[in-house]
Amino acid sequence: MNERHLSLTTFIDLGLSKPLLKALTEEGYTQPTPIQAQAIPTVLTGRDLLGIAQTGTGKTAAFALPILQRLAANPKPAPRRGCRVLVLSPTRELASQIAESFRTYGRHLGFTVAVVFGGVKYGPQVKALAAGVDVLVATPGRLIDHINEKVANLSGVEVFVLDEADQMLDLGFLPPIRKVVATLPKQRQNLFFSATMPGEIGKLADELLKDPARVSVAPAATTVSKVDQRLLFIEADCKRQLLAELFVDAKMDRALIFTRTKRGADRVAKYLEAAGITSASIHGDKSQGQRERALLAFKKGEVRALVATDIAARGIDVDGVSHVVNYELPNVPESYVHRIGRTARAGATGVAISLCSNDERSLLKDIQKLTRQTIPSFDRRNDRTLGALAAVEEKIQPDRAPRAAGNGRGDSAAPAHNRHRGRPAGGGGSGPRRGRGQGPKPGAARSGEAKSNAGGQRSAPAGWSPVD
Ligand code: AMP
Repeated sequence: MNERHLSLTTFIDLGLSKPLLKALTEEGYTQPTPIQAQAIPTVLTGRDLLGIAQTGTGKTAAFALPILQRLAANPKPAPRRGCRVLVLSPTRELASQIAESFRTYGRHLGFTVAVVFGGVKYGPQVKALAAGVDVLVATPGRLIDHINEKVANLSGVEVFVLDEADQMLDLGFLPPIRKVVATLPKQRQNLFFSATMPGEIGKLADELLKDPARVSVAPAATTVSKVDQRLLFIEADCKRQLLAELFVDAKMDRALIFTRTKRGADRVAKYLEAAGITSASIHGDKSQGQRERALLAFKKGEVRALVATDIAARGIDVDGVSHVVNYELPNVPESYVHRIGRTARAGATGVAISLCSNDERSLLKDIQKLTRQTIPSFDRRNDRTLGALAAVEEKIQPDRAPRAAGNGRGDSAAPAHNRHRGRPAGGGGSGPRRGRGQGPKPGAARSGEAKSNAGGQRSAPAGWSPVD
């Protein structure tokens, strides 16, 4: 199937039934994404599938739609204490999103969907499972508990989906997955999704899949090569001031900033706001409405900075993101690739800046191993921003500044004339210096949108909803 053919494919061409097409129209989906165009016809035939795709590609619908259709084609009651479809997901957030997708796409079919994950009471989950459900979405640990307690019995599973297998590996979930799989019936359809295929995941795929069709979209490595990557070694305590300084560069007009934690995302957004840089944060504790509003403001250029956690950024696909800033390096190296892929969309040039503190050096090593690249570090002597860096470091930790600025790498400290740049504006405020004239520029939204229109060729159709 070539690109041209894919771009002309419609959901009707893929063989989906009326109730599903109706739900898709209601969702505003006009055209399948490439992974959907490739996967849906295959899954409808009942064949096993190996899908290499990262989040944001529309892969949830790529498996949920054909699964729902197959269930509808063969109506039968859900097995007691069990399910007809089992989806394993690495995180609670993702499990909830997948369950929500099944409910949305299946809203005219009337199937039951339940979700099971740790960190919440057992009672409601036990009750939900007792009568049996059509689709069960679960994280591995809690599901094992339910199996051990004989609350769940998976012998009636017809379709098994393993989502984000590489994340499962990183989170140490391979042993529980194998335990779950051992309780499944031999005769079943298996769908296996992963953004990357490290050796262990390949082995697991071989164990689980029988003669699978293989589909893949946007291999991660091509994204990496299009992004101008920079690295900055900096003390953790100095990061937020430096981040505010980075916004003095007017070209950084739409930056997606990644933190590892939800609280961290809020703190950074608050700090930037205090520094006069319009910001919003987006993470799993925010309601769908809050997330949508934040994203819209970012898209329109009303906020220059969107601070996000990895999970929340899943599905964010905004044209014209000028910079991705890894405020904290991700624990999982693949996330680095996902993060920086948010810039340099549709052939545009994008910049990814990673702030690496001492305790993150091992994470950096993992990233460089995965991407097989050494991320070039900023030239501390010649870069304007780094004058600010030295001043920031000196102000926060005067005794540590020379070492931090030189970083023990033979670089000279920043010139003295730059050192005033980290001072807060006026007296009083505890926030960083306000980047004068660096609030949202009246033209920022327009220029960003012009770029996105000109850059235009997105794989996703109009109506592509970036928040899931
Ligand atoms: P996923 O990769 O499954 O996380 O999907 C990413 C986002 O794209 C979600 O918000 C979906 O609702 C949305 N989406 C999936 N398929 C389509 C489509 N064909 N058209 C528009 N939006 C879609």
